[in-house]
Amino acid sequence: MSHRVFNFSAGPATLPEEVLEASAAALVDYQGKGFGIAECSHRGKEFDQVLDEATERCRRLLSIPESHDVLYLQGGATQLFSTLPMNFLAAEGLGPAEYVVGGEWSKKAAQAAQGAHGDQVRVIASSEESGFDRPPTGWSASANASYLHVCSNETVHGHRLAEWPEHPNLFVDASSEMMSRPHPVDRTAVIYAGAQKNLGPSGVTLAIIRRDLYSRIPKSVPKIFNFKVLSEAKSCLNTPPTFGIYFLLESFRWLERQGGLEAIEKRNTEKAGLIYDAIDSSGGYYTGTVADHSSRSHMNVTFRLPNEDFTERFIKGAAQEAMVALKGYRSVGGIRASIYNAMPAEGCRTLAQFMRSFQAANG
Ligand code: PMP
Repeated sequence: MSHRVFNFSAGPATLPEEVLEASAAALVDYQGKGFGIAECSHRGKEFDQVLDEATERCRRLLSIPESHDVLYLQGGATQLFSTLPMNFLAAEGLGPAEYVVGGEWSKKAAQAAQGAHGDQVRVIASSEESGFDRPPTGWSASANASYLHVCSNETVHGHRLAEWPEHPNLFVDASSEMMSRPHPVDRTAVIYAGAQKNLGPSGVTLAIIRRDLYSRIPKSVPKIFNFKVLSEAKSCLNTPPTFGIYFLLESFRWLERQGGLEAIEKRNTEKAGLIYDAIDSSGGYYTGTVADHSSRSHMNVTFRLPNEDFTERFIKGAAQEAMVALKGYRSVGGIRASIYNAMPAEGCRTLAQFMRSFQAANG
């Protein structure tokens, strides 16, 4: 590809060049067949093979046990967190669902559930009072909650749950860290992620669901939102986002070529370390927005400069050096560098160097 900048967008986000090229080629002509992968039936053998290979690779990458299904859905993570309660709340003998709210996204998930189901949903901890500058601490969930919902990486605020909590029915929004490290699927009931950060274009949501939950689904749930029906239809109840799913397959192939999720995690830790070092060695010129360093995200690095004027100049200066999309989320301000799997270490190194030279010139 001719000219690629370092793109720090939070999502849709930078994707691996090899994956883009392979997907682009398949879009024009799939395996020399004279049609592209977005131009054939979702019920034909070509797409069926794509689905099978994607699922096989996804299972291998994440060590997904037989007890769990892999689903490719639409409507984004927002539809997912809106449909989870209608499927899985009415569980016999279990109490209200419990939500831990550590940022904008877990708050939205809790609001969606509360809006539709009222007192069957409980927020058991929130860090909103301290401006979501950390994940909530000091909480414990009821073992008999219908489920415990957490967001494992808060995209806006730049913190993560370094360890996922223990719960018999743990539901995790992993949208902004999916496959950036190994995930404990065997002790998680539901994991879901919009694809547009680590995996592919927006329009596909990857959901991994423990099958025993299906017995909870009320008859009133429309088929198109019913996870059991969707699973039985192999994600093809209606026409799925075929090209997006193909793109995921190329991402999974790429991840396996990188050595799998342990290798990716090591690389991501080093990448994030380059930028956090630049913050921590700046003598307070740059301030990280996350209070508890052990919760700093390895995917979204958030920090502030001494004032708004410097922030604007930083963003403009970085753009002149081919680093784009560094502006923080509107409610947080400052800088957010999103450094998902596809961001090369060179991008993080270039940003860290720019931070040092910007400080030297504007200190
Ligand atoms: N959860 C998290 C953690 C997110 O970062 C986002 C999107 N930024 C969402 C949910 C919502 O995703 P979507 O736009 O796919 O509905």
